[in-house]
Amino acid sequence: MPPSSPPPPGHAAPSPDGAGRGARVSIVGAGPGDPGLLTLRGLERLRDAECVVHDALIPEALLDAAAPQAERIRAPRESGDPDPGGATGRLLVELARRGRRVVRLKGGDPSVFARYAEETKALEEAGIPFETVPGVTALLAAAAAAGVPLTRRDGASHLTLVTGHEAGEKGTALDYRQLALLPGTLAFYMGVAKAPHWAAELVASGRPADSPVLIVSRCSWPDERVGRTTLGALATGAAEFPGHPPALVIVEPARGDHRPADRTSPPPARRNAAAPLAGRRVLLTRPDGQGEEIAGAVAALGGTCLRAPLVRITAPTTWEPLDAAIRAADTFDWIVFASANGVRGFDERLRAAGRDARALGTARLAAIGPATARALGDARLACDLEPARSDSEGMLEALLPTLHGGRVLLVRAERGREVLRVGLETAGNAVTEAAAYAARPVERLDPELEALLADTPIDWVTVTSGVVAQTAARLFAGRLGGWRIASISPITSRVLEGLGFPPDCEAATPCGAALVEAMAFWESARRGVQEIHGGPESPAGPAP
Ligand code: SAH
Repeated sequence: MPPSSPPPPGHAAPSPDGAGRGARVSIVGAGPGDPGLLTLRGLERLRDAECVVHDALIPEALLDAAAPQAERIRAPRESGDPDPGGATGRLLVELARRGRRVVRLKGGDPSVFARYAEETKALEEAGIPFETVPGVTALLAAAAAAGVPLTRRDGASHLTLVTGHEAGEKGTALDYRQLALLPGTLAFYMGVAKAPHWAAELVASGRPADSPVLIVSRCSWPDERVGRTTLGALATGAAEFPGHPPALVIVEPARGDHRPADRTSPPPARRNAAAPLAGRRVLLTRPDGQGEEIAGAVAALGGTCLRAPLVRITAPTTWEPLDAAIRAADTFDWIVFASANGVRGFDERLRAAGRDARALGTARLAAIGPATARALGDARLACDLEPARSDSEGMLEALLPTLHGGRVLLVRAERGREVLRVGLETAGNAVTEAAAYAARPVERLDPELEALLADTPIDWVTVTSGVVAQTAARLFAGRLGGWRIASISPITSRVLEGLGFPPDCEAATPCGAALVEAMAFWESARRGVQEIHGGPESPAGPAP
């Protein structure tokens, strides 16, 4: 559409920036599950929303993209309302009339088997403009997971999206004879429950019983599974459905060279099979909102992350020592930050006191580790010193030559190592320590995570501090020994060893990127060994 043409009736042109413009309703496709598959426009709308009306299956990690103060409302789907689409539409009207910026977040794409017409009817009738932000529909994620094309030059010149839900219902619009004759791929949404019915109808209408069928459950979720069978096996009820719902069923055109029937493959198929972490599931234990660097790097190498935060970052028991230190900040020679959380806590208290970088006077700033140095940059503070060795010992070694009877402020966690304070004091310097946060172990695992762990094989667990190591040993107990362990630093490795769980690999420098690199190296080395013995079979079998 050229920029000047008006939007179609009932639809609002997307505004470049929604802030302060009053009501706006955006119907946003959330994609199939993995937050990485939300569109950039969808993310913008979500971040700007005051109110998010969402389906039950939308993952928490995606909802967390909305501002913490944004209201989250489950769409009235299981409310017993005979017209849940209409009820949702009326809710959207009500919220828009209250002047709210509303996002209606729907799984996959909002226009594919998603009651779009029912939900938008009330908005149209009320004359409330709205926009639609498309999403990645489940079928596209399923094809990517299975590593198959949905169209092919030789025999699949047609792609049809079908609802399996209506199979066998009176008055259904589905004509199986026509479907059976289409020269291409059929994708069944909501097709699991009535698979024997619609598969038998297709076979009876002339679709070959040996047509290959892919069943992809929970596409793009960490427990995604890909199964293979045939249309004939589906029709007789003999096919096995891998994993858990929801699942998408893809019926491919029959070919001479199709793969053997009734095979299920546990890890996500050939998605970037050459990548070092392809098909690997990594348990991410960092606090909520802090695992992005690791999750991004794991995904880039073909793996999937499951989130199991084992520590919570909270305020320290008292702010008084830090507040006092900030008031006297310009009297220190060095302010040393032991972690990124320390930088964030310090910056927050500095700003809360109505002050800025000028309060630091001539004090120089030092950071342990690259992530801490980056956090200083994020807070618009220059880092004067980041020793090559990223631990307290490395910092001590770098600082001592610069100090003779100096004053040092250590900004740190509430509990932690004493090496730096003791070393500096022994050399005749005055040290002030101030806690800028506390890392508190979580008491128990979230029940949803427990259920996921019960039937999802884990390959790696990341251990990013001593507290995480102790909490992992307590909460995962026997399971921890069965997973490969990636440790962030030599100190964390020593804690792990002391607990009886020596790590399989260790980051070269204590940062997320290096941690993921260590896992990738471990995997690549192993893969080399396996190939000498004939090579592992690709979980999804040979390429079609
Ligand atoms: N609007 C959604 C579809 C909703 S209908 C979209 O565009 O994807 C619900 C059906 O979608 C489910 O029964 C299942 O067939 C499919 N589905 C949704 N999410 C899925 C996922 N993550 N994995 C597999 N199938 C999924």
